[in-house]
Amino acid sequence: MANSSTPQTLTVEGLTAWLHAYAALIAEHEDELTELDAAIGDADHGTNMARGMTSVTALLAKRTFGTLDALAKQVGMALVSSVGGAAGPLYGTFWLRFAQPLAGLTEADAGRVGLALHAGVDGIRQRGRAEPGDKTMLDALLPALDAYDAAVADGAGLADALVAAADRADDGCAATVPLVAHRGRASYLGERSVGHQDPGATSAALLLRAAVR
Ligand code: ADP
Ligand code: MG
Repeated sequence: MANSSTPQTLTVEGLTAWLHAYAALIAEHEDELTELDAAIGDADHGTNMARGMTSVTALLAKRTFGTLDALAKQVGMALVSSVGGAAGPLYGTFWLRFAQPLAGLTEADAGRVGLALHAGVDGIRQRGRAEPGDKTMLDALLPALDAYDAAVADGAGLADALVAAADRADDGCAATVPLVAHRGRASYLGERSVGHQDPGATSAALLLRAAVR
């Protein structure tokens, strides 16, 4: 089930393509993300994410990057500085931490990308202090990491590991519907947050889907 269009290593060009694909998916799903946030938050998640990814696209147009970490770090800073709301600093932290295991590299294999994904998700967890099951973006990202690790342990290359992660992120996102929110604005609703898909889990599933396009 190899996705032949996704290469077996992440290069600077590959990360750039991933970010462009993510910006496109966010633009496509902006209204949906905002509607999800209207149900259990303040109806700005689509706008927030679109603003952030527009600023990332502008960065990619303006500059070239010699290494994976240099690019990821600037993406993180662009998101932190352009997005208000909870999700901006959390996704910004993801990219700032994602950069660290990639320091000085122009190319990373599945194992190294796994370290970067773990570092990024750990950053979100530390910064937001959410736990699994709190109905946040982590409920898409943590199962996705497990699927990624299992695929790599089975000998999968980057392409197949990312497909496994993206599929599991979709499942994790759908599984947020019956959960009660314990973090972020949705937690103010308590039991009334049940029955709605988490907006941040939805944008997080798109982040991994963008990587396999
Ligand atoms: P805000 O809630 O400030 O309006 P957004 O609407 O852009 O920000 O983002 C909301 C999303 O952020 C939620 O759906 C949830 O997935 C995520 N989120 C909020 N707080 C946390 C947290 N502490 N940890 C992880 N994710 C969080
Ligand atoms: Mg919001």
